[in-house]
Amino acid sequence: MLQLTSCNRMLTILLILLSPYLLDDQKSRFLFHDMSAEVVDSNPYSRLMALQRMGIVENYERIREFSVAIVGIGGVGSVAAEMLTRCGIGRLLLYDYDKVELANMNRLFFRPEQVGMTKTDAAVQTLSDINPDVVLESYTLNITTVQGFETFMSSLKNKTFRPSKEGSGVDLVLSCVDNYEARMVVNQACNELNQTWMESGVSEDAVSGHIQLLIPGETACFACAPPLVVASGVDERTLKREGVCAASLPTTMGVVAGLLVQNTLKFLLKFGYVSPYLGYSSLKDYFPTMAMKPNPQCSNAACLQRQKEYILAKPARDAAANAKMEAEASAAAADVPLHVDNEWNISVVDDSEQENTGGTSSDALPEGLTRELPSADEFPKHSTYGATDTAVDDLEDLRRQLDALNAD
Ligand SMILES: [Zn+2]
Repeated sequence: MLQLTSCNRMLTILLILLSPYLLDDQKSRFLFHDMSAEVVDSNPYSRLMALQRMGIVENYERIREFSVAIVGIGGVGSVAAEMLTRCGIGRLLLYDYDKVELANMNRLFFRPEQVGMTKTDAAVQTLSDINPDVVLESYTLNITTVQGFETFMSSLKNKTFRPSKEGSGVDLVLSCVDNYEARMVVNQACNELNQTWMESGVSEDAVSGHIQLLIPGETACFACAPPLVVASGVDERTLKREGVCAASLPTTMGVVAGLLVQNTLKFLLKFGYVSPYLGYSSLKDYFPTMAMKPNPQCSNAACLQRQKEYILAKPARDAAANAKMEAEASAAAADVPLHVDNEWNISVVDDSEQENTGGTSSDALPEGLTRELPSADEFPKHSTYGATDTAVDDLEDLRRQLDALNAD
């Protein structure tokens, strides 16, 4: 089911009709903006493409090939969806069954005029206005029902966006749900599909949260280490105490959404370190990290199957890693001198030489900039001996006065 706002509906319908013929090659997909690196005010991607120029990301434009599924469009999921939309993600699949309420207004993203709309429709309305280049799919359903689960699974498998992709039709699933049952359903789907996913959560008292990377067979799944206390045989949403509702803060949810999307960008675009688990305790500004291996006694059959496959694939993985290391070593041993081009004209300067010349050459500032404070070399070098001499003189004087007194 695809729902979009009226301004883009006609173009989207055309896109859907043409999609089987167009979407294999991303360059032929109809896009409102080119992802160019040109630094002009009218280019929505110039600041993102600068990541490439600064050497952080090798190929930022690849982001347009990726599909991310977000389950739960609440305080974390909606903000994560907005961040990915602004980053120019290729396709977002949004899942939620709830409606926007006034009680959601303490969080980011949803607006009072959207009260009564389904969260998925309201999200599509806002996101398609922010960045019409992103393909948005809205699924208003409950994944914990039998039919909801079936639709969830088939939507993840759907590869019309990028038919050449291996595995499922999405690159990553983000779980932004607020209950154990839904997390177990996402876990089940991802274990069955061998689909990497990230889990996120914010505590009921709103002051801590976490994100976690789950790679079936390689890291612990959600069932490998279940929480210590879980609801048994009853709907956990009915367990809340009378008149007491969970707290939520836009700050904690924004931080967790930021950490989640940062990890997502690093995972998809292959830069930096992708955290296997990152906690956030706002009261102490404490960010614990850890990694968890899968449990060989996990209760989830699909998890055990993925663990078996991961172990069987180990020799091939080791061989590939060795080949990569050898290729890198031989490239390093090749007779290419380090920094042969030296485009910045960097040279090694002897310390003593620099002292003699006052070391001013490396301190030169570009035109139009001046130093606000004097550099350390320009401070006057006062001798402290004079002050010490005065002190000694004073002491001598005192001693003479004391001797004169004693003489009386
Ligand atoms: Zn498991």
